Amino acid sequence: MHVRAPHLEGVRPLSLPIFQTSSFAFTDSESLADALAGPDGSYAYSRYGNPTTRALEEAVADLEGGVAAVATASGMGAISSVLLARLRSGDHVIVQSALYGGTVSVLRDLSERFGIEVSYFSGAADELAAAIRPNTKLLYLETIANPTTRVNDLPALAAIGRDAGLTVVVDNTFASPMLCRPLEHGAHIVLHSSTKFLGGHSDIIGGVVVFAEEEHHRETWHQVVDYGASADPFAAWLTARGLQTLSLRQAKQCANARVLAERLSEHPAIGAVRWPGLTSHPDHETAVKLLGDFGALVSFDIAEGHEAAVRFLERVRLATLAVSLGGVETLVLQPSSSTHRQLDASGLAAAGITEGTIRMSVGIEHAEDLWADLAHALG
Ligand SMILES: *Cc1c(COP(=O)(O)O)cnc(C)c1O
Repeated sequence: MHVRAPHLEGVRPLSLPIFQTSSFAFTDSESLADALAGPDGSYAYSRYGNPTTRALEEAVADLEGGVAAVATASGMGAISSVLLARLRSGDHVIVQSALYGGTVSVLRDLSERFGIEVSYFSGAADELAAAIRPNTKLLYLETIANPTTRVNDLPALAAIGRDAGLTVVVDNTFASPMLCRPLEHGAHIVLHSSTKFLGGHSDIIGGVVVFAEEEHHRETWHQVVDYGASADPFAAWLTARGLQTLSLRQAKQCANARVLAERLSEHPAIGAVRWPGLTSHPDHETAVKLLGDFGALVSFDIAEGHEAAVRFLERVRLATLAVSLGGVETLVLQPSSSTHRQLDASGLAAAGITEGTIRMSVGIEHAEDLWADLAHALG
């Protein structure tokens, strides 16, 4: 059976349609060639560009204040595409030490296979300045670190990077553009795992890269298209759907996080609580200047350590033991046995966590229900 796709002219659907097609039909080959030539033209093949994906890219570029964006199949697709597009053998990269585990793996691989040198620094401006070499090309930061919730002083660090001619790249996944827009603070490129806050419903894997400069956009687009990291239209559609409630979700998540962080701080079973909105947080002043709110990620130490943390995770009912973050449901995990399981005791100490540390991504549930759940699981 042969089914023809309809032409719709003169009407506009209210919601974004899913263009679930691999290819697009043309009436002349010149237009087809034009559509394949760059990131801004018409549509020929969905690995190069797709109207649903483009709508998502334009929305996120707008939110981040960039000139253009590229949506990718995952956050790691976004990160690896930017690094592969920007770096050559023999280049040197400076990155912060508390970094998403997948990014550390990619950097290790780039270093072993392609001779790209990598230096780690704590986040302190003087350490960054001292690490710059003649072959340094790129500075890579995260707005809020995992699971310490340390907040980078992006304007200060980006200024040092820019003065040295480095490309400044920021993974803004933990903050989302609701809390921080790194391009306004001097970054050239900002990227996300849209699996997390942008999608917001724990139902897709996706990534997006936003650019301050057209040249970087074109270069990364070529990388994504050639190496096949492009977003699927259906995942792009779900992400775009999620994006419409980002500000509402994020406001509720931050408000819930405040209630839980404050009450945990007063609970006798809890040692340190890390949330940038607490005045006890080492980067509270930076967070007040840089962030619109203080985020949905809270980490805390159960004073009795490993066994007590395991017991807590078995006893929660409303919060769920799972990796990932940024969705509508509250998730908890123990970094020492999951996201940071490769680290030994001294590595954990250097990462600022203990075996009793719990990382919590706060959802949009009723705050009192969440507190009742945590208090019961701790008791
Ligand atoms: C999850 C995450 C990634 C990786 O994203 P995927 O969508 O899982 O590929 C990168 N950076 C941060 C900060 C993340 O939380």
